[in-house]
Amino acid sequence: MRDRFVSPVEKSEDIDFNLRPSSLENYIGQEQIKKNLRVFIQAALERGESLDHVLLYGPPGLGKTTLANIIANEMGVNIKTTSGPAIEKPGDLAAILTKLQPNDILFIDEIHRLSRVIEEILYPAMEDFSLDIVIGSGPQARSIRLDLPEFTLVGATTKAGSLTSPLRDRFGVINRLQFYNEDELTKIIMRAAKVLQVGIEKAGAKEIALRSRGTPRIANRFLKRVRDFAQIEGDGIITANLAQSSLERLNVDQLGLDRIDRKILMTIIDNFDGGPVGLSTLAASINEEEETIEDVYEPYLLQLGYLNRTPRGRKVTKMAYNHFNIEVDK
Ligand code: ADP
Repeated sequence: MRDRFVSPVEKSEDIDFNLRPSSLENYIGQEQIKKNLRVFIQAALERGESLDHVLLYGPPGLGKTTLANIIANEMGVNIKTTSGPAIEKPGDLAAILTKLQPNDILFIDEIHRLSRVIEEILYPAMEDFSLDIVIGSGPQARSIRLDLPEFTLVGATTKAGSLTSPLRDRFGVINRLQFYNEDELTKIIMRAAKVLQVGIEKAGAKEIALRSRGTPRIANRFLKRVRDFAQIEGDGIITANLAQSSLERLNVDQLGLDRIDRKILMTIIDNFDGGPVGLSTLAASINEEEETIEDVYEPYLLQLGYLNRTPRGRKVTKMAYNHFNIEVDK
C-alpha cells in the first residue's frame, strides 16, 4: 500500500493518546451507538456482570479502538489489546485469556484475520467462559477444560463480511460505525486543537473538517500539519485561509481527495469509459492490490457518491464527471 497523507490507516505520527477521548461524553458523534452502549453498560454494571460481547465494524480511523477503550473505562475494568494476526498459536490465546480479571475487556483488532483454529478455541470461551486445551501430543495427548473469568470480547474489523457466521453470531452487540459529518468533525478538531494547545478559529476547523474524508484520524493528522504552517508562516492561529492554503500545498483538494483518488476515478473514466470495470482489472490498471482498493481507497469515494459498486464492477457517477468538469458523453 502506498503511503498517503490522506490514508485512514494509522501511521506512527498519528499515535497520540492525548487526542483519544476517554469517556462516552467526550466521544463525538456515533449518537445511536453511544445511546445504546450507555444502556448496556449501565445495565451490566447494575447487575455486576460483564458486558455482552461487542463487535465494532467500519472503515479505518473512525474510532473503533477508541470506543473499545472507552467501554473499558466506563465499565471500570482493564483492557487487553491484541489483533487477529498477532494471535498465532492456541497457546497465545490461552495465555491472554487466563490472565484476564473478571469483567475485563479483551480487544481484538482485525478480528476477521483470526485463524480458524484460534476461532474455534474462542467459541467456548465466548459462550461458556471455558477453554479447552490439549496438553501433550500423540497418544499421550489429553484435553483439559479450564474455567475462565467472565470477560467481554470487543472485536473490531473493517470487513464484517469476512467474519465467519459462527463468530459473528456470538456477539450480542453489533455496531457499524458511520463516517462523521462536517459538524462532528469540526467539533473533533476544535477539541483536538485544545488538547494540542493550538489556536484555531471555528472557520479554520471547518475547512479542515471538509477535507477530512469523514474520518477523525485524518482530521487530527491534518490539524497537526496545518498547525506547523500556522506556527512557521502564520501567526500561530489556524484561520480558514491558512487551513485552505496549507492543505492545498499538501495536495489535498476541497473534498479531501488526493492523487490516488483522482487516479482511480480518472482511470475508470479514461480507460473504461466510466465503467463498469471489475475490481481485479482496476487494481491491475492502477498497480494496486484489490484488497487495498476495497478497504482503504473506495469507501470514501462510495460515501461521496462518486463511485458505485454494481454486480458487473465499479462505475463512476455523474457527480465524479462533474467534479473533474468532464462531460458525460454516453
Ligand atoms: P479505528 O480503531 O477505527 O481505526 P481509532 O479509534 O484509532 O480508529 O481512532 C483514530 C483517532 O481518531 C483516535 O486517536 C482519536 O483521537 C480520534 N477519534 C476517533 N473517534 C473519535 C470521536 N468520536 N471523537 C473524537 N476523536 C475521535
